[in-house]
Amino acid sequence: MRQTIIAGNWKMNGTRASAEALLGELIPLIANASAKVIVCPTSTALETVGDIIADTNIALGGQDLFWKAKGAYTGQISAGMLLDLGCEYVIVGHSECRGRFGVPEPDFTPTILAYFGDSDTTVNLKLRAALANNLIPILCVGETLQERQAGNTDSVVAAQTKAGLAEVSAEDAVEVIFAYEPVWAIGTGEVCASDEADRVCGVVRSAVAELYGSEVAEAVHIQYGGSVKPDNAIELLAKPNIDGALVGGASLKAQDFAAIVNAAP
Ligand code: PEP
Repeated sequence: MRQTIIAGNWKMNGTRASAEALLGELIPLIANASAKVIVCPTSTALETVGDIIADTNIALGGQDLFWKAKGAYTGQISAGMLLDLGCEYVIVGHSECRGRFGVPEPDFTPTILAYFGDSDTTVNLKLRAALANNLIPILCVGETLQERQAGNTDSVVAAQTKAGLAEVSAEDAVEVIFAYEPVWAIGTGEVCASDEADRVCGVVRSAVAELYGSEVAEAVHIQYGGSVKPDNAIELLAKPNIDGALVGGASLKAQDFAAIVNAAP
């Protein structure tokens, strides 16, 4: 039985003051949650949020990291720095950070949001840097609308899963949280049908099984992400291959995020 894990990705939203207000409302609403709860605030609020949630059932995560420990990498944050702020988790390979073919998409459109040029190679470097520093990575994978329409969903998702895990031992792989996030469903209000989300989470699990065997595959947690809301959370979280949710927009509203957390089976 895998514990449900609900993570909130606040993206580039909020100040320390708004984070405090959000958490002040959220903490009592989820005090008895059976799910594991993670919040991933913007980096400027990590320390504040870490202090506020210190004695609660909420864990802290970063939204991204750079794979080097330190040096001339302007604007970047290392795994060690996230640890220093009390992070236990970090998102890697979010579709907003990925660019297909290693560079940002040439045609930025509302359905292709890939700003920071992450490739499968850099996502793997980030994931390994996280694991090497005892941070649990939340590895995001997912197809664009064009890839889905071309019938390539399963191959894209399996390839991203395997590439993200390159040179990762079975012992480490079992710690990784996967998030199947169809790019076309992120921030669009268009949720993937629960049966299809469950099926593609199964594709992720099969890719893990091909690399490490069924024991590891059955142990890993696979979240669904993409327009998860209180009104679709119960159905999604009840699916056998969906072990939680990575929540963007709804994680900025305490009542909505709490309802999703409390929808855990
Ligand atoms: C996300 O950014 O990971 C996400 C799933 O966003 P949203 O819930 O807003 O679609």
